[in-house]
Amino acid sequence: MKKIVVATKNEGKVKEILAAFQKLPVELLTLKDFGDLPEAVEDADTFLGNAQLKARFYAEKTGCACLADDSGLEVEVLGGAPGVRSARYSGRHDDAANNEKLVAELQKKGAVESAAAFRCVLVLCDADGKELVSEGSCVGHVRQSPCGAGGFGYDPYFYLASGKTLAELTLQEKQAVSHRGAALRLMAAQLKERFA
Ligand code: IMP
Repeated sequence: MKKIVVATKNEGKVKEILAAFQKLPVELLTLKDFGDLPEAVEDADTFLGNAQLKARFYAEKTGCACLADDSGLEVEVLGGAPGVRSARYSGRHDDAANNEKLVAELQKKGAVESAAAFRCVLVLCDADGKELVSEGSCVGHVRQSPCGAGGFGYDPYFYLASGKTLAELTLQEKQAVSHRGAALRLMAAQLKERFA
């Protein structure tokens, strides 16, 4: 069976990716299966660029096909920030600190809420260097007050048209509407075609 390593250390992403690929005829591994690996440097200025960088880096380090996700939140009143810097918006890789910074930036703009979108780009880099790409987005609003305890990252501050945040949804419900869920479905369809 085709082995694919999920090239992220973000536990929230790993959970969502493993759940989406459960029924595919592939064996999924995580970076933990390869012990101490160096960290890929994400210095591109697009989601696609960073996803390619991570997929290629870990494909080379593990000798396995690698699936990488680069994703983030774009907030209209903040000119698209935090965007590709979502993971370290506060200067630290820390969800609570990043959310605090998001609220502070909304306050500076005097915005109780703002239109926003999550974006996700997935790149699968095969051991022979061939690549598959898929993308997804999820539109909604960010507000200064959080709701819900599920998900990860900015989920408690991201409100859907239903009035619920992504953090109030089950994993399956989030997958059905999220940027990553959409990108994963498109990637799964490409993988099915390739490895069926
Ligand atoms: P990356 O690992 O560089 O792609 O960073 C992605 C960052 O974007 C995460 O650390 C979160 O802060 C944010 N993010 C991406 N997807 C989601 C999501 O589904 N929910 C909440 N935050 C997300």
